[in-house]
Amino acid sequence: MANPRIDRVSAARSATEGRGETFYPGPSRTQLAAYPPKERWDDWVELDSRAWPQRVERHTMLVPTTCFNCESACGLLAYVDRDTLEVKKFEGNPEHPGSRGRTCAKGPATLNQVGDPDRILFPLKRAGKRGENRWQRVSWDAALDDIAPRIRRAIAEKRNNDVMYHVGRPGEDGYTERVLAAWDVDGHNSHTNICSSGGRAGYQWWMGYDRPSPDHANADVILLISSHLESGHYFNPHAQRVMEGKKSGAKLVVLDVRLSNTATHADHWLAPWPGSEPAILLAIANHLIQKRLYDREFVKRWWNWQEFMEEERKGQPATFEAFERTLEKLYAEYTFAFAERESGVSAAVIEEVAGLVASAGPRLSTHTWRSAAAGNLGGWQVSRTLFLLNALLGAVGVPGGTFPNAWNKFVPRPIYSPPHPRQWNELTWPQEFPLAMNEMSFLLPHLLKDGRGKLEVYFSRVYNPVWTNPDGFSWIEALTDESKIGLHVALTPTWSESACFADYILPVGVGSERHDIHSYETHDSQWLGFRQPVLREAKARLGQAVSDTREVNPGEVWEENELWIELSWRIDPDGTMGIRKYFESKKEPGRKLSVDEYYAFIFESSVPGLPEKAKEEDLGPLEYMRRYGAFEVARRVGAQHEAAVPEAELQDVRVSPRGRVYTRAEKPAAPNVVPVPSPEPDSEGRRPVGVDLDGVVRRGFPTPSGRLEFYSSTLKAWGWREHALPTYIRSHVHPSNLAPGEMPLIPTFRLPVQIHTRSANAKWLDEIAHTNPLWLHPADAARLGVETGDLVRVETRIGHFVVKAWVTEGIRPGVVACSHHMGRWKTGEAGQRQMMATVSLTRGGSAWSLRREREVAPFASADADTSRIWWTDAGVHQNLAFPVQPDPVSGMHCWHQAVRVTKAGPDDRYADVAVDTAKARKAYEEWMSRARPAILHSPDGTRRPYWLLRPLKPGREAYRLPGWTKPAGA
Ligand code: SF4
Repeated sequence: MANPRIDRVSAARSATEGRGETFYPGPSRTQLAAYPPKERWDDWVELDSRAWPQRVERHTMLVPTTCFNCESACGLLAYVDRDTLEVKKFEGNPEHPGSRGRTCAKGPATLNQVGDPDRILFPLKRAGKRGENRWQRVSWDAALDDIAPRIRRAIAEKRNNDVMYHVGRPGEDGYTERVLAAWDVDGHNSHTNICSSGGRAGYQWWMGYDRPSPDHANADVILLISSHLESGHYFNPHAQRVMEGKKSGAKLVVLDVRLSNTATHADHWLAPWPGSEPAILLAIANHLIQKRLYDREFVKRWWNWQEFMEEERKGQPATFEAFERTLEKLYAEYTFAFAERESGVSAAVIEEVAGLVASAGPRLSTHTWRSAAAGNLGGWQVSRTLFLLNALLGAVGVPGGTFPNAWNKFVPRPIYSPPHPRQWNELTWPQEFPLAMNEMSFLLPHLLKDGRGKLEVYFSRVYNPVWTNPDGFSWIEALTDESKIGLHVALTPTWSESACFADYILPVGVGSERHDIHSYETHDSQWLGFRQPVLREAKARLGQAVSDTREVNPGEVWEENELWIELSWRIDPDGTMGIRKYFESKKEPGRKLSVDEYYAFIFESSVPGLPEKAKEEDLGPLEYMRRYGAFEVARRVGAQHEAAVPEAELQDVRVSPRGRVYTRAEKPAAPNVVPVPSPEPDSEGRRPVGVDLDGVVRRGFPTPSGRLEFYSSTLKAWGWREHALPTYIRSHVHPSNLAPGEMPLIPTFRLPVQIHTRSANAKWLDEIAHTNPLWLHPADAARLGVETGDLVRVETRIGHFVVKAWVTEGIRPGVVACSHHMGRWKTGEAGQRQMMATVSLTRGGSAWSLRREREVAPFASADADTSRIWWTDAGVHQNLAFPVQPDPVSGMHCWHQAVRVTKAGPDDRYADVAVDTAKARKAYEEWMSRARPAILHSPDGTRRPYWLLRPLKPGREAYRLPGWTKPAGA
């Protein structure tokens, strides 16, 4: 049968070739013929549009890099003028297998970030008290000579965990984690528990892997609990594949409280009460179960049903037939009527969607990431119940289904792998949250106030906790207390509210000014992307060697790869601490490792197929990556769980009664070092290697059972037996948990053209989006007596903010929503003028307030466009008014808020924020009381199940929990 996609490509080829043009499909296999052929990237000629009608040629070099404006890492091509070495524009890189030449608006806006007139170009040291926002320029040498000895002293005095690196957007795969491991510091802190931990946890309990990789392009039904067509995780790469799927006839189902741009493209848009998504998903699952519409063979082969029956249904036979009968009973209560009562979505609509899902069979691609999983108490059950549908239909690792991320990701082995840290950091991994997916980063001010530790050196890196995290005033209190944080070093490409509370601001590069490698699960393949300083490569093509990115970047902007090498040498100048050896050249022992050597080693020895591919073009592997920016390592990776384990890995095996296979064979060194969970060995020290299915040892999943874990013995063992199965937890904003007059506020959604702190320095984006009104349904607006543009006061449990109303039918009645991308502010002149309003901060004891003093206004600069700024708004900073709300299982901050919305009073002004941090402290204590600490619930005296993923995983000995005694009866 004809394939319409191939036909379209052929038609495009004939059309272009018929015109005498070269068709350029590239490895991206797109039919877009307009990309400059890669053979001409050294000298691409375009006519200067401004010189028209004269035909003036402009010669540019096209140099690949990757976008740093969200986690998707799309390929970019920098158009570098050959004469001036100025970057003229950024467009998509057609050689990139993930993004295939396409970008969203934020990719080309990298140009604005390079030329931003308010850029921080030189290292700055504070000239007043912390937070006064007064700065003096210092040299890199002076800054590093202050920072390095403090770190050295902390490590020498065995205060390793007094050093913390808190990262927002990593944009790289493992480089900095290895720096910290080399320092023997358990100081990695991420933003993940305010981002995706809820989503990850649900996936990890099922598969061991913590992320999904949906194959939207080949699906029959695409089910999204998110707005992936306009933002979402892997936004552009996934959006284009969702549209491909739709073009091939797939139906799109979107669950979202708001009418997002994605929902407008859906065949079915369901707007449930926030947090009720699992009720809908469980009703669909129940439909599949009761009608026996699921894939029995898949469930029988791959679910750990036998373990469930043997552990939880002891009186019954552990047969699959008995399990099926039990399954029917377990989910029978989740009827369409039940889902309607919980969600407010009509039972008939849910039933129709259930029929659609059933019709997809294994071609069901599903995805959730932040959204509901990040908003609600128990949000991790959103992804768990969503994946239940895939697991029922066998839509796992097959075309059109959903894959575990690790199969579709390639992280190459680096030049050095320092050992796991020997430390455990209680400030990031407090024992109240033994099952947290990631560091409890947003609790840091409270944990410091508890006296659980202090910090000698705190790096914030592309992260803005004062603005991004909930409870920002508590962050300000912590950052201004020098007894708690000795030195705050902000590594940032742009101004941020948190950088204003630093001791040093060190300027690091944007996407075209730094090296990184990355690989993401955009579809069923494995690819590796390479970010590079484009002017360094442009000069190299002209025969000019560059050894330090500061030689080509604006001002003294430095890339972090080089910075970390230099800092590590200064911490351990003579090598006696055992640190320096991880930052030395292998080719020239005793000399500093260069970035060229670091990446050349990786590309030459750890990326299968790359050296051969490069050789075809007479290039070395590093040259190839510098020229093309990406490499496809594997295509159509397929169902890895079904793969037979090679004989060489099966030595002295033992097979457990449930079919888990253990081996004494060493794990073969593989080039792909994607972090995967490490299930426990057997009692004789053999490592788990697969599962025995029909006499064949198959790879299975990295869970304790080796199967998909419908039933989690880990959750049960660590005190959460009631959640051992995919089920429904009523959110903290469920109607039964709201006080009279309260409504849920959805504060989690992204705007397509902004990205947290990092995009305020992009004028094109600021012009498009610079405000965040409160979405309010007409029925609620009428009740409150407000219209679009009126000011409303939104009261949370610790304070309030004042925002403009936007009355729209695009939101569920009884719920309000406000995007978190706005409300940037500065307290003085220093800051980003095109998107940061000037405010005054006032404190009286625990009572804080923020009031806007000056709006955004035009200003004179080297960029004439800044004098044309016509917008005055910068939105409202709502996160300041949110208390911390840690989910007791996943550790995710539960973003949704219980709020009261009223008409603004006479003293209220737009963008006002007021908070009482004493109330914030109380809220912290209330939410902490929901936790089940390891000291009371650990079954084995460890701080956390060792098999679970953990960034910068410490050695086993660090897992031991001091003071633990075996629970009675255990
Ligand atoms: S989706 Fe947009 S912002 Fe994200 S990496 Fe791609 S081009 Fe950049």
